[in-house]
Amino acid sequence: MERAIDDSHRLLRGLPSVDELLRDDEIRRSAALCGASTVIATEAVRGALEDIRGRILSGALHEVTIDDIMGSVAARMKEALASRIRRVINASGTVLHTNIGRAILSNEAVEALTLAAEGCINLEMDIENGERGERDCLVEGLIKRLTGAENASIVNNNAAAVLITLNTLAEGGEVIVSRGELIEIGGSFRLPDIIKKSGCVLKEVGTTNRTHPRDYATAITENTALIFKAHTSNYRIVGFTAEVGLKELVEIGSARSIPVVEDLGSGSLVDLTRWGLPREPVAGESIASGAGIVLFSGDKLLGGPQAGVIAGRKDLVDRIRKNPLKRALRADKLTLSALEATLRLYLNEDTLPRTLPVLRHMARPLSEIDEAAQTAAALLGDSLGDGFTIEVEDGESVVGGGSLPGHNLKTRVVSITHGTTGPERIFRYFLNSDPSILGRVSKGRFILDMRTVERPGDVVPAGVFVP
Ligand SMILES: *Cc1c(COP(=O)(O)O)cnc(C)c1O
Repeated sequence: MERAIDDSHRLLRGLPSVDELLRDDEIRRSAALCGASTVIATEAVRGALEDIRGRILSGALHEVTIDDIMGSVAARMKEALASRIRRVINASGTVLHTNIGRAILSNEAVEALTLAAEGCINLEMDIENGERGERDCLVEGLIKRLTGAENASIVNNNAAAVLITLNTLAEGGEVIVSRGELIEIGGSFRLPDIIKKSGCVLKEVGTTNRTHPRDYATAITENTALIFKAHTSNYRIVGFTAEVGLKELVEIGSARSIPVVEDLGSGSLVDLTRWGLPREPVAGESIASGAGIVLFSGDKLLGGPQAGVIAGRKDLVDRIRKNPLKRALRADKLTLSALEATLRLYLNEDTLPRTLPVLRHMARPLSEIDEAAQTAAALLGDSLGDGFTIEVEDGESVVGGGSLPGHNLKTRVVSITHGTTGPERIFRYFLNSDPSILGRVSKGRFILDMRTVERPGDVVPAGVFVP
């Protein structure tokens, strides 16, 4: 025991100082090589020494070589400079996965994004007459054409769109919402809370499963500012149910000059049944039914960047634009450029399944997914080694992002099991590869859904799996 203490004292005394290490040629070379500043290098040296001291004191380290110290310093510098952003291959079976950034942008949107990032654009500049412009004008024309709305405005996401719309049109007043539509969406978006934060008073009507026209009609008082209809994005009420359609709500509202706002959540600009997909509310239909304002996300079914679209009656949109909150919630040049390019794709619906990745993935033929799964299974068989069972099976994908709730899409998955290792470990191994591969665990197996994977080789992890 005493010898051990002596030993550690000797080791600690023998360690070089921070200054000595910072002056060392090899450390200076490796700092220059990875582009580490003096601050980063100093932190790395301190961290490495601290770590080694700790391990000596705990008895875990009985010998220290200069190479150990150098190696640790270099690794720490590299780690400090490494990007926190990692590419993730989406084999999760969720087309619009919020945790990995929802919609994959089209080539056209990426080009527009790059153009805007690399230089300046006419964000708020009317090029024709050299005057100051309004940034919403970049996409206003397209949204009007694609939805039939009189005017449009863009904010950072749909939650912001709901907030600014309620605050503008109903601050201090009552907002009528059916109890069946008081939704919570992931990431702490709860409609009752947003209504409160907008400065409005929530007036719930009806019951969870059934709300009737008379519920709305009798709830209207002189304090009523708005009727709000929310798309119950991520769940469905089935069985003994009744909800009041938008047209009827508009009739009830307009008799008392009360506008109806519809939060479509995902909302689509086109009828998805055209490609054999389930029906999702179409923004243009809500406008045609008389909604004063419709709200939807840019990065859900629309397939663009994160954004919130506010479209509807000119007088209402004009008021929203003038709200000081608009300044706080306005979208930047990157978002607007990518959104504009995405919206332009909708001008040709025939090519949309090719040009828009979200639609391409939703409408991808099963035969093509199967082909990708077979190729991936063969590649994985070669790379994973012994002990694994790899099979191609039927599966189900979901659209996600609150779109098409309750509707699953038939898919083909690669299922991977191992004789002695559980599926959670295989899941983490794939996730920790670079790029990360996000599969999922289902019924005791680790599975990779190939619907959203364009290159089968992408689901082959880079390293070697040690069970
Ligand atoms: C997703 C969703 C929102 C929030 O949209 P974000 O763009 O994620 O902010 C709001 N309302 C509904 C009904 C939704 O589905």
